[in-house]
Amino acid sequence: MSPVNDTRPWPDSICAGETEQHEPLVRRVLAPNPSPYTFSGTQTWLVGAGEEIAVIDPGPTGSGKSIGDPSVVFGDAFGYGHVEAILRAVGNARVTAILCTHTHRDHSPAAAPLKAATGAPIIGCAPLALSDDGPRADSAFDPDYAPDRVLADGEQISGEGWTLTAVATPGHTSNHLCYALEESRALFTGDHVMAWSTSVVSPPDGDMAAYMASLTKLYQRSDRIYYPAHGPAVTKPQQLVRGMLGHRKQRERQILRELEKGPRDIPAMVAVMYKGLDPRLVGAAGRSVLAHLYDLRARAMVAGEDDLWGLC
Ligand SMILES: [Zn+2]
Repeated sequence: MSPVNDTRPWPDSICAGETEQHEPLVRRVLAPNPSPYTFSGTQTWLVGAGEEIAVIDPGPTGSGKSIGDPSVVFGDAFGYGHVEAILRAVGNARVTAILCTHTHRDHSPAAAPLKAATGAPIIGCAPLALSDDGPRADSAFDPDYAPDRVLADGEQISGEGWTLTAVATPGHTSNHLCYALEESRALFTGDHVMAWSTSVVSPPDGDMAAYMASLTKLYQRSDRIYYPAHGPAVTKPQQLVRGMLGHRKQRERQILRELEKGPRDIPAMVAVMYKGLDPRLVGAAGRSVLAHLYDLRARAMVAGEDDLWGLC
């Protein structure tokens, strides 16, 4: 599922910097950061049809590194011009809130320059607890994220004609929030639920048990449509979430089946479980397997450390 070397047509209806109206209160601006992790790029969502606009996931600012640099992750190399594109889309209206779903570098770095340009507060997810339970941050995280106000689960903010409710959804990251638009029953799902790919859950900050609980939480809601941070809108949310819960349980069974054959390391399990995977995504698949193993270990079903795992 990579737009980089894919021979199919460009997988998006708009180009980077362009704006698309999805419903009266909701517009999308596409950031110029396509990659194997970000699909056609980060989608910044604008909420509001009047004078007051909320901006969800302002996106990357551009790290200045080339895409060949091994430290470039999550498509953060190309963010140049995205803040300007957001401001063009806002036009004569006013940005009154900047919200981030989480603090990966393809989501939150542009919050600061957007705040500087508009004076709007940064509201929403918490900064990452960097030293909680060992080093929780890796190079994918935005260490400079500084919110003016953190929203707890269920807290709301509103503007002219819109109200957004925070829905705490830890798992992909510990600080992940979705935002529910009360007026139209739309849910902005960030990286928690996407239609084009399953979410990367990378320990120690990513947590598979929390991720599964957050999927179950969405399954129990009755949202009409999901707008993810990457890839197409989801028009049958319950069906997709049910499938994702099943998919993760199937991965868990695959791991247990592999370990029934004897102790294994993660690369050996990935080779069997993810046949035909884009080689650039093998590392991320390994992180998700590790997240499953930590979860199974917490339930006393497997034992092991980073290198070698076996059944209890
Ligand atoms: Zn993310």
